Amino acid sequence: MVELDRTKKLRGSADRDLVALGIATAAIILFVATGGRVLPAAINAVFAGGAAPDALLVNALLLNVVLIIFGWRRYRELKVEINDRRTAEELARELSETDPLTGCLNRRSMARITNELRGEARAKGLAVVYCMIDLDNFKQINDMNGHTAGDSALVELARRIDCVLPNEASLARIGGDEFAFVMAFDPNQTERVDDLAIRLYEAMATPFVLEQVTVDATLSMGLASDHSKHGFDPKLHSSDVLMQRADIAMYQAKKEGKNRYFWFEPSMESELRFRNELEMGIRSGLHKGEFVPYYEQQVDVESGELVGFEMLARWISPSFGSINPEIFIPIAEEIGVIAELSDRLIESALDDAGDWDEAITLSINISPVQLRDPWFAQKLLKMLVKHNFPPHRLEIEITESCLHDNVDMVRGIITSLRNQGVQISLDDFGTGYSSLEQLRSLPFDRLKIDRSFVSELSSPEAKSPIVDAIVYLGRGLDLPMTVEGIEDEAILGQLKQMGKLKGQGYLYGRPESGAEVRKRLAANGKLAAAGEGRKGPQRSTDSGEAQALSQRVS
Ligand code: C2E
Ligand code: MG
Ligand code: MG
Repeated sequence: MVELDRTKKLRGSADRDLVALGIATAAIILFVATGGRVLPAAINAVFAGGAAPDALLVNALLLNVVLIIFGWRRYRELKVEINDRRTAEELARELSETDPLTGCLNRRSMARITNELRGEARAKGLAVVYCMIDLDNFKQINDMNGHTAGDSALVELARRIDCVLPNEASLARIGGDEFAFVMAFDPNQTERVDDLAIRLYEAMATPFVLEQVTVDATLSMGLASDHSKHGFDPKLHSSDVLMQRADIAMYQAKKEGKNRYFWFEPSMESELRFRNELEMGIRSGLHKGEFVPYYEQQVDVESGELVGFEMLARWISPSFGSINPEIFIPIAEEIGVIAELSDRLIESALDDAGDWDEAITLSINISPVQLRDPWFAQKLLKMLVKHNFPPHRLEIEITESCLHDNVDMVRGIITSLRNQGVQISLDDFGTGYSSLEQLRSLPFDRLKIDRSFVSELSSPEAKSPIVDAIVYLGRGLDLPMTVEGIEDEAILGQLKQMGKLKGQGYLYGRPESGAEVRKRLAANGKLAAAGEGRKGPQRSTDSGEAQALSQRVS
C-alpha cells in the first residue's frame, strides 16, 4: 500500500518535471535566437569599440541561461526520479504477486502463471501438472503453539517444498496452509511427477524445529494434469478447471486419511458433487424435519426381557431415500450442524419416551464434536427438565474417539452428567484406542462390546477370545456390559453362558420408528399407566428426581 502511494507521488512529480523540461527546451531555443544577436554585438563592443548590445536583449539572454541551468538540473533529477519510479513499480508488482510471509507467489499470480505455462508447454508438446498441497495438522500447530509458531511452520514448509522442486516449477501459497506448484513435464514420463511427490513426502519426514517447539507435520496433496493416457484433455479450456481438479484430488487424499497424494480422476468429481448434494440435503432436511429417531431394543440377555431402547438417527430424505447415520453423521459433524441435528433428535426421543414404562431406559449416541462444547451437559440436562424425563433413565453413549484430544473436557462433562444421575456408556468398545488407564480413570457406567467381535460367536462351537477378554475386563473393572450385534440364536446361546449382560441386535428386531415402538409397548403392556402418560413438559406425576433436577438446572 505504502509503495503504491509512493509510486503515485513519483508519477505526479514526474509529470510536473516534463513541464520543466519543456520550459528548458524553449529557453534553449530563445537562447539561440537572442544569443545570435547579443553575442556578436557584445564582442564588437568589447574588441572594436562598437555600440553596447541592447540591455533588454542582454537581460533576456541572461534569463535564458538561468532557465537552461534550471531545466538541465531538473532534467537530471527527473531521470533519477523516473528510475526510482520504475523500481517502486517493480516492487509494488512483486508485492502484489507474492505472499509476504513465505515469499512464494500468491493465488492471483499463480492463475496467470499457470495460464501462460500451459500455452508455452503445449507449443513444446509438454503437459502441465498442477499440485495442491495442504498441511494436515496446521490448525493443531496453531492452536497448540500459537500463531507465531504456525507462521514459522508455513515458512519452513515453503522452504522444504522449494528445495525439492525443480527450478522451472512455480510455487505459490494459495491461502492459509494451502500451497500449490505448477510445472511442465514430459507426458510420457508421468512417473517423474510421482517421484517428485514422493521426495516431497521424504522432505517432510524430519520434524519441524520451530522457535519453542518441535512438531511433526504431514501433507495431503492432489495432482491434476492437462494430459492423460488418452492425450491432451480437450475439455480443459481453463486453468481454473485444472486447479479445481487438483483441489478435488487433494480433498480425496484428506478423506482417505491424510498424509497421502492422489491424481485427479473423473469419478472423484461425481463423488464430490454427490457429497455437496448430501450437504445441501442435510441442511435443508434439518429444517424440514427429515431426521427422525428410530429405536433398537435392548434386552436382558438371560431373561430376554425388554429393558430399554437405543435411539438411532435416520434420515428419511425425499430425494435420497432412507439414509443410515454412518453416512450423514460424519458430514453433519464436518459442516457444523451435528449439535443442532442431535438436539432435535434428542428432543423427539424424549418426547416419544414420555409414554414408555418407567423401567425402560433410553440410550442416545453423542458425537465427539458435541463433547467439545463446554455447555453440553447443561444443555442436555435442560432438555431433561423440559421433558420431565428422569436422568437415571437416560444413558449417553460415547465412542473411544471422544477420548483422543480433549479428555479433560470430556471428563468434566461426564462427571456433571453423572452427578445428576445420567448413565454413561463407552460405545463400540475395542474398536478405538482407549487405554486401560482411561477406562480406570473415567467414570463410565457401562461398556458396550462392538458387534464386530460378537459376530465371531455365530456358530455354536465358535469362540471369541476377544469377547471373553472384554467380558473378563469389564467384570474386573466392575462395569456392566451391553453386547451389540446379536443376530442369531447361536450368538445368544454363547452369551447366555457369560453371566449378566444386556444385549441388542437384529435377533430382537430391526430399529423401529417411535410409532412402531409405541405399538410394541402397548401390546406388551409397557406403556406408562393411563393418565400418567405424558407428552412434553406438562407432566405432573413424575418422580421427585426430575423435579429436583429442574431446581438444580434452573
Ligand atoms: P452404534 O451406536 O454402534 O449403533 C448400532 C448400529 O448397529 C446401528 O447402526 C444398528 O442399526 C446396527 N445394528 C444393530 N443390531 C445389529 C445386528 O444385529 N447386526 C448388524 N450388522 N448391525 C446391527 P446404525 O443405525 O446404522 O448406526 C450406526 C452408528 O451411527 C451408530 O453405531 C452410532 O455410532 C451412530 N449414530 C446413530 N445415531 C446417532 C446419533 O443420533 N448421533 C450420533 N452422534 N451418532 C449416531
Ligand atoms: Mg451406540
Ligand atoms: Mg455401538
